[in-house]
Amino acid sequence: MPEFKTSPGTRDILAPDSGRWRAFQDVFAKTVEAAGYTLIIPPMFEDLDVFLRLGEATEVVSKEMYDFHDKGGRHVALRPEQTASVCRAFVEHRPTTPWKVWYAGPNFRYEKPQQGRYRQFDQVGIEALGTDDPFLDAEVIGLGAKFFSNLGLTRVKLSVNTLGDAGDRARYSQVLFEYFSRHESTLSSESRATLARNPLRVLDSKRKPDQELIANAPAIRDTIGGEAKAHFESVLGALEALNVPYQVNNRLVRGLDYYRRTTFEFVSTVLESAHTAIGGGGRYDGLVEALGGPATPGIGFALGLDRTLLACDAEGAFAAPKNTVEVFVVDTVDGMHAQTICNLLRASGVTADRAYDLRSMKAQMKAADRSGASVALIIGPGEAQNSTITLRPMNSGEQYSIPRSDLVGEVLKVLRR
Ligand code: AMP
Repeated sequence: MPEFKTSPGTRDILAPDSGRWRAFQDVFAKTVEAAGYTLIIPPMFEDLDVFLRLGEATEVVSKEMYDFHDKGGRHVALRPEQTASVCRAFVEHRPTTPWKVWYAGPNFRYEKPQQGRYRQFDQVGIEALGTDDPFLDAEVIGLGAKFFSNLGLTRVKLSVNTLGDAGDRARYSQVLFEYFSRHESTLSSESRATLARNPLRVLDSKRKPDQELIANAPAIRDTIGGEAKAHFESVLGALEALNVPYQVNNRLVRGLDYYRRTTFEFVSTVLESAHTAIGGGGRYDGLVEALGGPATPGIGFALGLDRTLLACDAEGAFAAPKNTVEVFVVDTVDGMHAQTICNLLRASGVTADRAYDLRSMKAQMKAADRSGASVALIIGPGEAQNSTITLRPMNSGEQYSIPRSDLVGEVLKVLRR
């Protein structure tokens, strides 16, 4: 028989990590729902064209897409991110604006798997469509920062930048193209290829030979117009009023063609250099239009769950929740007592598990120990006959008899003590 394993770049998430994943999404939901964002659950695959609208110059679209023809001959793709789906949903449902949504779930990119980089990876994120108000930029960025602090992370750095408006961006792209072209012989071969496709993206390169050139590259702030400049100033002012610490980083660009004005990135200073980005986002314009809707501004971010949890590990923050039952029932009589008692406890809001297969007292007590429960309830022939139960708080060597009729009350007394 072949030995089946998960495909490269994918993983099984088992307990206790799986409980941590769920708790992560709960903290995120709480953080953003407090600001009026509602959950959207887009499909995991869409017509390939939806994602092509992100811009064919981006690597995610040009190289990393999981696309295939389905049995009906449709060319579809597993979503590589969720902003395009959210914008497609906006066009399809025409909600009133501002439309503020959050999402959580897996995305798929055909990347080289390594620590912190997977082919199936989870993101949580928000998108807000329908207004250009700089207070919205600050709200979105502030919610990202708030979420990290709600997780208990303290070593997260926020960088912000502006890409100006569409014309500014195109002009800047040209300025960069000319600058890097003049120094092409010094550029890494990868960046040379990037330069032909998307000059802005060269600024993202982490490769050594490119660093000095990037540091001396012209800054976008010299190319942007007055309105975009004023917008950026307002965003920064609002962030300060919110007490969100940030650094302006003129080299921060986003890959997608539709990004303009505000861009931002959260970096964990405790992670290894290649994968320090734990989330990022920005304002985009034209994506809704490209998907067939009216001209609509939007802003959002996506945070990588996998990588953020690596940052949590490195900081010793947001430990996996204890995922254990409160009570474990040991029944050496017939197994039916255990069933009745478990049911009764569960109906009263107490979590309970039991042993199976009518094994020996010793084996069942071992299982009780392993379960992590704080109380064991024991029924042997004597207890069955007298309608009693032996209650054993697991952290003490003692045990005592309780009347079966007082079962729930006695258990709660121990648990809620
Ligand atoms: P992006 O959608 O590329 O802007 O990525 C946003 C965040 O998602 C990044 O900062 C990472 O934390 C995370 N991310 C992106 N690609 C991957 C991947 N292949 N594996 C794990 N996390 C990823």
